[in-house]
Order: sequence, then structure tokens, then C-alpha cells
Amino acid sequence: MKTYDVIVVGAGNGGLVAATSTAKEGFRTLLLEKHNLPGGCATSFVRGRFEFEAALHELCNRATSPKQESIDKIFKRLGVDVPLVYETALFRAIVKGENGYDVVMRPGYDGFLDSIEAAVPGCRDKVKAFIDLIGVLDGAQDYIDEKGINPLALYNQYGDFMRIAAHSTKDVMEAFGIPEKAQSILGTYWGYLGPPIDDLNALHYISLLAAFANTPPAMPYHRSHELSLALVKALQGYGGEIQYNSEVTQFLYDEKGAAIGVIANGDAYYAKKIISNIIPHNVFNRSDEKVIPTAAKKLANARKFGMTFVTLYLGLDCSMEDLGINDYSVFISSDPDSRVQFNQRNNFGMYVVNCLNKALPDSSPEGTCTLFFTIPYMPGDFPENLAPQDYKKFKNEIAEKYIRDYEQTMGVCVMDHIEEIVIATPVTFARYLGTPEGAIYGYASETWDNVVSRSALKDLENKIPNLFFCGGHAARGDGYPSAYITGAMTANDVIKELRRGK
Ligand SMILES: Cc1cc2nc3c(=O)[nH]c(=O)nc-3n(C[C@H](O)[C@H](O)[C@H](O)COP(=O)(O)OP(=O)(O)OC[C@H]3O[C@@H](n4cnc5c(N)ncnc54)[C@H](O)[C@@H]3O)c2cc1C
Repeated sequence: MKTYDVIVVGAGNGGLVAATSTAKEGFRTLLLEKHNLPGGCATSFVRGRFEFEAALHELCNRATSPKQESIDKIFKRLGVDVPLVYETALFRAIVKGENGYDVVMRPGYDGFLDSIEAAVPGCRDKVKAFIDLIGVLDGAQDYIDEKGINPLALYNQYGDFMRIAAHSTKDVMEAFGIPEKAQSILGTYWGYLGPPIDDLNALHYISLLAAFANTPPAMPYHRSHELSLALVKALQGYGGEIQYNSEVTQFLYDEKGAAIGVIANGDAYYAKKIISNIIPHNVFNRSDEKVIPTAAKKLANARKFGMTFVTLYLGLDCSMEDLGINDYSVFISSDPDSRVQFNQRNNFGMYVVNCLNKALPDSSPEGTCTLFFTIPYMPGDFPENLAPQDYKKFKNEIAEKYIRDYEQTMGVCVMDHIEEIVIATPVTFARYLGTPEGAIYGYASETWDNVVSRSALKDLENKIPNLFFCGGHAARGDGYPSAYITGAMTANDVIKELRRGK
């Protein structure tokens, strides 16, 4: 019988940090991963002479408050040192049509405000007041982390936090009198989160925007696979084990319903604590139905799956200079209104194209470059009845449509230079990550179910003794920072229980 203190299921960002953290504290830790390599989304793949980044557009590795958890703090604590390169622009946003615009936003507090003022003269002070809300939000978050939720104290000390907690980003921008065009530019990142700004929780969005505005987005030199490998090295350095090609097919419970182990490759592994980096839906489907509390099932079923993507990875036989490309991240939209962009998401509503060579000139062989197209899809967008023999044609058509639109918008020629192309769809993500509907971000962040309510209520969720969750589907929502941070938070909870002998 193989026994451990902690078993972590899934070596995505959350699982890697959780396992490394418990191993570092001396607990016997086993990390089980279904693939033959770590990282989940945080990986890369090679085609011909190109190594493509699979997921990461940009890493937000520092927190806006010194008290808050962040990637740089977690990595430092775990002894993981991966050099990063910081970008010189946040993004270029090109909106087509009558009320369109072409704007470059720069990082850094002043750079950000100067660029929005240059794009929409007269809006600086209003945008500043909006972005400065981060001070109150961070204060309230620090208070909650230290003292828990106390509505009266929060009202008295952090009134704006309570006032905006249940409002959309658009509501709050309107309250600050931010002009429509500036709202549109500030709302550009909705495509990274899912809901358009009239449905996107203001606290969540301000946190993301302020983090990007304050610290330039970063990229590792050797794709996010480098981050994942560095965490594995640290895990092993602390005596932790990682076992690849080990899909967990069953979660095991004792007669009282407490988690006691898992089955992978037909072998049983037992531990005092189980941390799942895989989404609760998949854990419950691999568990005896009788042990899952009704409330946990109801909660999972009440939640919506978050967004997914169609992505195109292109290796081109010419440099970005030859092509006439000069930006790292370009967001291309059909209309300034994010609700319209969202509604037209499968038809040029909004998509992002990244040229990694701008951030990392030698990320592809000399005289070549790569492009990474990201097109938001929501659960249900992908045709359910697509026959297997029609799949290739279907995805090739999407790719061609978007490459042509990009060529036309940017005035560049891409088609003639394609040396390698890979097209991923929600089906690819469903197969690779194992998530329902190919969700890459776990559950959608909605007004009733956002980062704040999830963080506040996390100890009441999924109350199955000895079973814990971390990752993009957990309390902090989606993205690299959230997945790493929930990995650290969950490990902390587990370590506390183990130390108390619970
Ligand atoms: C195309 C794309 C672009 C993105 N861009 C960004 C970005 O620019 N910035 C950003 O912050 N975030 C971005 N994200 C989101 C980010 O990658 C994810 O939110 C984050 O990596 C999720 O981490 P996770 O810990 O939830 O694990 P996941 O990446 O979901 O990994 C889960 C792991 O569990 C394994 N697993 C699943 N089932 C089992 C099982 N039964 N047994 C064993 N192992 C199992 C999987 O193989 C996988 O390794 C992007 C994602 C994608 C796909």
C-alpha cells in the first residue's frame, strides 16, 4: 500500500504550487498527472523549428498591495527563480467601424493614464479615480484576509468596496463619468475573463486592470513550460514525487465520507489529505455519488462553465520586421461596445493576436516569427453535432477567416509565409485538460459567483473532509496568478490541518 501525507491530483499551475509547498514543509507528497509532462495550460509544444507557447499571453506576477499574495512572492518562497522579460506596451486596441480607434496603452501608473488621456482627451482624472479604487479594494481585501468578513467594519472603513462589490465594471465606470470611448479602451481585457463589461464584476476587473497598469506584463524566456519545469525541480528538491502518465480515475473515501486516497493506473494511493487541481465536476464524477454532499453537487451545477478559446499558432518563414508587425498584443474588435463584441464573438467580435518575437526576439529561429491568435468561445458556441470527418474543415475555415481579417486589418501578408500552423478548439482543450466543454478557466465569474463571494465563502464550499481544491476553477477565478495563488492558499490550509493532527 502506497501512503503519503498529501496527494495532489493534476500538475497544472495550482497543483504544482500546492505540491511544492507541502513538500517544502516536510510532508510526504505525491503529485499525479495524467500527461507525460507538467503544467496543464502552462506548457509549450514544438512543430518543425518552432516552440510555441500554448497559453500564456502575459503574466501578472506582482500584487498591487504588499500584503497580498503574488506569483513573485510564491516563487521566491519556494526557491523558484525564473527570469522574466517585461513588456513595453500593455496592448494595442484596434476597433473597426465608424466609431473605431487604434490606440496603444502603455504600462506603469503614469504611462497608463497618459495613454488614455492621449486617446480620449479630458478623461485622465476620471480614469485615475477609477483606477485608484484599487487602494480601497486592497485595503478591504487585506482586512478580510486578517479579520474575516465584518460587513459593518467594512462599510465604515472601506465604503467604496461595499458600494461597488455587487456592481458591473460598466456601472462603476459610468458612476465616475468615464466617457464611452475610454470605457471601451479600459474594457479591452474583458476578452481575457469572459463576460463583457456590463456583466463583469467591477472588483474583479479593477484588480486585473490596476495590476497590469502598475506592473508591466511579463513573459518567461522559454515559454511557460519553463515555469512548470522549475516548479517540478523545486518539488523534487524538497523530496516530493511526481508521477506522470497517471490519470486519477477514482477518488476513495472512508465509511464516514472522508477522502482517503485515489486510484491511478489501477493502483490505489492513500494520503491524509487530497488536493484536487481538477475541477469539482470531474472529482464528483470520479467519486461514489453517495459521499458527495448535496450542497456541493448543487453548487457545482449552479455554476456556469467559463470561457474557452479557439487558438491559432502560426510559425512564419519571415521576421516580424519583414512582415511589418510592431506590437506584441493586438486586440482587434468589430465594435467599441464590449457587449456587441461579446455577442459577435464567433464572427470577429473580438480577437487577440500576439507576436512573441516583439517581447522575446529570439523566441523563434532567425528570420522567422510566430503569431498566436486567441478567439473567445463560450460553452455552447461550438457546434454539438459536428461530425468527426467535418472537424478539420470546420477549424480550417475558422483559421482562414481570422487570418484573412488580420491581414486586411493590419495590411500585412501572412498566408504566403505560413510554415507551420496548429489550430486548437474547445475540443482540443477538453481532450488535453479533461475539462467539461473545454473550459480553460473553470467556472465563469458571474455577479453572484465572483472572486469576492468565492473567497469569502470558500471554507463553506465542498465540505468533504480531507478533500481540497485549487486551480483556475477555485476561489480566486482564472489565470496563472489565481491558479498559483490558490495552490499556495490550499497548501497552507492543508499544512495547518496536518500540523494540528487533524
Ligand atoms: C489559450 C490559453 C491562453 C491563456 N492565456 C492566459 C494569460 O495570458 N494569462 C493568464 O494569467 N492566464 C491565461 N490562461 C489561463 C491559465 O492558463 C489557466 O487559468 C491556468 O493555467 C489554470 O491552471 P490550473 O491550476 O487550473 O490547471 P490546468 O492548467 O487546468 O491543469 C490541470 C492539470 O490536471 C491534469 N489532469 C486533469 N485530469 C486529471 C486526472 N484525472 N488525473 C491526473 N491529472 C489530471 C491535466 O492534465 C493538467 O495538467 C490561458 C489559458 C489558455 C488555454
